[in-house]
Amino acid sequence: MTRCVALIAHDQKKDDMADFADRHQARLSGWRIVATGTTGGRIQTACRSLEVTPLKSGPLGGDQQIGAMIATGEIDMLIFFVDPLTSMPHDVDVKALMRLATVYDIPMALNRATAEILMITHAN
Ligand code: PGA
Repeated sequence: MTRCVALIAHDQKKDDMADFADRHQARLSGWRIVATGTTGGRIQTACRSLEVTPLKSGPLGGDQQIGAMIATGEIDMLIFFVDPLTSMPHDVDVKALMRLATVYDIPMALNRATAEILMITHAN
């Protein structure tokens, strides 16, 4: 069965996520990709060959959707480029998502350095 990766990036990290997805297009092409709304749009524009399923935008419930998918066993890896320097209206949703990824022991990268390692160890 095709594994599923969830990709999310806060606004200040979206350029970084688009670049990350572009560089790892070959690896990611073997995965089903879901993403929060705006992040998904950016990835789709940067990587025409990837098929991305966009969910709601993060502040409108996208993080919670991904959390629910983790709880139902649909997500195998979470890559979430977090902006630690900006306060977010949906901070509680972000925390809930990280909590569920921890509860269900999903490989989770919260910054690019860790995401690069996950790509090598998990995405081949
Ligand atoms: P976005 O959501 O991709 O829709 O911007 C990300 C977030 O802020 O959680």
